[in-house]
Amino acid sequence: MREPVVPVPLDFKTAQRFLAGGVDSPVRAGRPVGAPSPFIVSGRGAHVVDAAGRSYIDYLCAYGPVILGHGDRAIAAAVAAAARDGAVVGTTHPEEVRLAQRLCERFDSLERVRFVSTGTEACMSAVRVARSFTGKAKLIRFSGCYHGHSDEMIFSAGASSLSAATLEAGVTQAVASEVIVLPYNDIAAVGAALGAEGDNTAAVIIETICGNMGLCLPETGFLDALRSLTRRHGVLLIFDEVITGFRMRGGAQEALGVSPDLTCLGKALGGGLPIAAFGGSAAVMKSLAPDGPVFVGGTFSGNPVCVAAAHALLDVLDADPRFFTRLERKAKQLAAGLQRIIATAGLTFAVVQWASMVDFMFRPGPAHRNFAEAAEADASAYAAFYRGMLERGILLPPSQMELLFLTAAHSEEDIEDTLRAAEATLASM
Ligand code: PMP
Repeated sequence: MREPVVPVPLDFKTAQRFLAGGVDSPVRAGRPVGAPSPFIVSGRGAHVVDAAGRSYIDYLCAYGPVILGHGDRAIAAAVAAAARDGAVVGTTHPEEVRLAQRLCERFDSLERVRFVSTGTEACMSAVRVARSFTGKAKLIRFSGCYHGHSDEMIFSAGASSLSAATLEAGVTQAVASEVIVLPYNDIAAVGAALGAEGDNTAAVIIETICGNMGLCLPETGFLDALRSLTRRHGVLLIFDEVITGFRMRGGAQEALGVSPDLTCLGKALGGGLPIAAFGGSAAVMKSLAPDGPVFVGGTFSGNPVCVAAAHALLDVLDADPRFFTRLERKAKQLAAGLQRIIATAGLTFAVVQWASMVDFMFRPGPAHRNFAEAAEADASAYAAFYRGMLERGILLPPSQMELLFLTAAHSEEDIEDTLRAAEATLASM
């Protein structure tokens, strides 16, 4: 037998010997904060433990999927049972149909869905459907939104895509030329783009609530105006609710009262397992093969283990009519506490909160409205804050373009501990 090549304790240098760049997702290398995220080996509830045995209160929450808390028993049991029954079958599975039905009942805008494995696939496929349905090619999206790492989505995107130095590397000019990137919250820019290119534009895709340039909220009326403009120009409106879909009952679209043509879901849907979906009206979804010409498929699409996890998650959400209210109350507690601490420190950073997501940037004045404003935030101040919080046992996202997620497992005490750590960290900076 060969000696194990990976020494314990593991360090980042060893990771770099075997994983490209030491990571499977660039943000994990922690460039914006000067050090890789700790190697997390386990999680229970709101807490995670790293390879050195240090425990943290977790606000990274895997960038959104974790909503019940780590190691949830109901999800673990559902996954184990499904795996015992045969993890993958390669045919349609009854539970997959039942999950599709549950999603269609949950979101008014969904009559048909198709499952895929990641948010990247969901967004990429929704755009392909829109192109086929409309017979048009161009795509409008917004800088600072992130819709996965497909060719047409990755340049000028938000979030961790910024950690790649050359955003357009590997993306052809032909692909880039079909994409119009506009500032978030700028309805005049959308009107002008559609005025010029509406006849050539298949879709507008947007994060309904944007979680990839920090937390950035749509201004009052922006989404309504987007809805009427797209309708007027025969352009499909795609809501990327990969982050928001299961952070409110019925997603951001129900909360904000705007109905898209296509919706992309993922992250929390699988309770930690990789499953995503996109869907819309029966008429639009008829574009998909075998009914129509658009091919979207996958070996792991509708995977029974992931589907079982999703049912377990929805069972928990549906069993408690106050689930989201309770979760949001914690987010409000954290947001109000942070705002108080920031004000006490004589700073004017705006804390932003929506559902169970909280964020602030090291940027004075009112909350940012778009990516250009988000980019004004002081990166080195955030890096210092991140490191101070880490030393105090709080795990934050390693980039200011991400945000803090609350789970059902975060307790009031966790939040009070977090606020004490934030106060001490800010005071030490
Ligand atoms: N859309 C949004 C809004 C996202 O935040 C992400 C992931 N951060 C994606 C799409 C892509 O999802 P995935 O990483 O599962 O491919």
